[in-house]
Amino acid sequence: MPNGAHSLQIVQVVPLVRVRSLANRVFDYLVPQEFEGSVQVGALVRVPLGRQVIRGVVVDLGPSQPLPPEELRPIAAVLSDRVPEELVSLAKAIADRFLATLASCLQLVVPPGERVWREGASRVRRFWVMPVTDMLQGETGIRLTKKQKAVVGAVPPEGMPLKEACAVAGVGPAVVRTLVKKGLLELTVQPDQIGTEAQITLQYSTAAAEPSSAWPSLYPEQEEAVCSLLNAYEEPGYSHRLLWGVTGSGKTEIYLHLIARALSEGAGAILLVPEIALTPQIIERVRSRFGAQVGVLHSALSPSQRLREYRRICRGEARIVVGARSAVFAPVRDLRLIIIDESHDQSYKQEEEPRYHAKTVAELRLAARGGLLLEGSATPPVETLVRDTKPVRLSQRASGSQPACEVVDMRRQGGAGLLAPLTRAALAEVLRRQEQAIVLLNRRGYAGYVHCERCGHVMVCQDCELSLTYHISVGQLLCHHCGRSYLEPAVCPSCHEAPLVRSAPGTERLDRELRDLVPLERVFRLDSDVVTSGARVQRVLEDFARSRPGVLVGTQMVAKGHDFPAVTLVVVADADTGLYVPDFRAAERTFQLLTQVAGRAGRANLPGRVLVQTWNPDAPCIRMALARDEAAFYKTELDLRRRLGYPPFAELVRLVAAAKDPRRAEAGARYLVERLGRHLGPTEIRGPARLPSLKGVARWQVIVAARDGSRARRLVGWIVRGLEDAYRQRGVSLTVDVDPQSFL
Ligand code: ADP
Ligand code: ZN
Repeated sequence: MPNGAHSLQIVQVVPLVRVRSLANRVFDYLVPQEFEGSVQVGALVRVPLGRQVIRGVVVDLGPSQPLPPEELRPIAAVLSDRVPEELVSLAKAIADRFLATLASCLQLVVPPGERVWREGASRVRRFWVMPVTDMLQGETGIRLTKKQKAVVGAVPPEGMPLKEACAVAGVGPAVVRTLVKKGLLELTVQPDQIGTEAQITLQYSTAAAEPSSAWPSLYPEQEEAVCSLLNAYEEPGYSHRLLWGVTGSGKTEIYLHLIARALSEGAGAILLVPEIALTPQIIERVRSRFGAQVGVLHSALSPSQRLREYRRICRGEARIVVGARSAVFAPVRDLRLIIIDESHDQSYKQEEEPRYHAKTVAELRLAARGGLLLEGSATPPVETLVRDTKPVRLSQRASGSQPACEVVDMRRQGGAGLLAPLTRAALAEVLRRQEQAIVLLNRRGYAGYVHCERCGHVMVCQDCELSLTYHISVGQLLCHHCGRSYLEPAVCPSCHEAPLVRSAPGTERLDRELRDLVPLERVFRLDSDVVTSGARVQRVLEDFARSRPGVLVGTQMVAKGHDFPAVTLVVVADADTGLYVPDFRAAERTFQLLTQVAGRAGRANLPGRVLVQTWNPDAPCIRMALARDEAAFYKTELDLRRRLGYPPFAELVRLVAAAKDPRRAEAGARYLVERLGRHLGPTEIRGPARLPSLKGVARWQVIVAARDGSRARRLVGWIVRGLEDAYRQRGVSLTVDVDPQSFL
């Protein structure tokens, strides 16, 4: 066939570009004769766009508009992988539901090898540099040049992109590489350039274990749950259920039974888990039952591993997929079951374009093809409880009993320490008995803020208007948003009269405070400052598991689904950290965190004890979490939300206007309110409100809270599309977040 000959077949293609003005557009192309008839919906192609050739996805056959074929350009190439048609429809549905661009949603469903944006390549930050923490803690005796010192000073504990490190320190990459050779810095490839889901990476062998036949017999309560859920599975069409079971009640066992049923009739299943790095056991559990039929998909896999798993799934070799958020897009054959474990977990929402929630995606996907969506949690989201009036309950633990919870009222505890005398005594007792304890403090660093006691001045980031955290490991104040570091001034920079005080103690401080009580080698710390990779997470967890006695200290990472049989004491060092954040879910999150972390105690034969230190023992969410009064908590919360018009009684869309020039950001938000106000009632629009600037960008927020969510979304989508270009020309960017989970 001569090159350049074109058939008259026309297809509609969405080029995978990031530029918003193009990312929502569909272009018509001619199919070259050699491919005539073989180009289907879902085909991956390369197409000319302007002066470039760009990857794209065929989303429809036939022209989208009546243009004569002479004016159309031909497709440049057709690639071998393709996207199943079902997933093309899903991408369209997500773009519609979350007001995201079609190109960004298609990026979620294209084969992994294709996941690199052609546009904006400079935004792809590949190399990530971070300190080797142990080194920075001691005096290392290594002499550094001025340039090298600048780099070491610039890199925060959590690391930063190589390019940025060089820019901040004003050096070339060679300086960084020298420091890597000296063992002071570590250079890694940033795991995922699109999603932030796996900032923590973990390498798994994809070699499959032999499936074992060891299925424990179910307890009566589990038996009943499986029975009822299998009935739901058999229902024709789409169904949704909630499995509400206390921590350790054997929910995973029930998932495995449902998956086995799906497999037995030739169907496929997806099991979503929050953060794979924190709960690697679950993969092993599923693998040990189903062997090579299990595919594992998460962004910590190397690109080639990922592609290999993807193809195994496409070919139907792997019919079960276990993975984090993005695994909800896995091209599983004959999908009939999606299970979302720990469905309250915040990692199910993607906090960047496209801002989808995996649960909604699962709903859309199964609603289109039929199947069961099962959410499992010990602390279900308030929103789920309203929809699902008859959850399947598990109230007994498979082994061990529910630990006793005690409040430690910090107002009555003398001394300035972070741990009350009662708590210290309990820890000492655990050590004496050679058992283990977990201490949760949901704040990183040494001091959450540093302020002047005389004039009240608080040290904030000059770019972000967020309070700076003191990190003793680097001896500097760090901005947790942008990573910028500052020297701690000796006196208050505002009144010049008093020294600064370090308040709001974090895990670094707790770690130190424990040193006089617990031998150094018995304390294990788990937070994103010390564990910058999945391998390190695993090492810390394994070391802790082996250490008896042992104390695991950390942020909410320690509250995830770990199963350590020797843990008999759980301490919440400060239950109040999440109480006063400006978020209507603050109480819910506190309740969930306390309930989850309490569930880590007494999981085996040993009895568990939970100590909750708080300055607010009367805060309803703390009181009810301690009393395990779920009914009261959910009732209070629902009443409040009904009164204030929050989800589930309204659907939210969050709009943020951002600009370097604060007046433009404000004007952008005000005009948005005016435009929305022509169609929505006054109670449906909240704001505009000023938010803290981030990285030198001023931000104003408008929240739409509407009973009729689909009408509100349509309206917002229409208004934003109309304003976007004009705003951009004035230097104002608009972000739209449907069903927002975070309001920072
Ligand atoms: P959950 O997912 O609700 O936290 P798991 O499924 O992890 O609970 O179960 C908690 C513990 O109990 C695990 O160690 C698990 O192996 C064990 N377990 C669960 N169900 C059974 C059963 N029917 N027989 C024996 N052990 C069980
Ligand atoms: Zn900052």
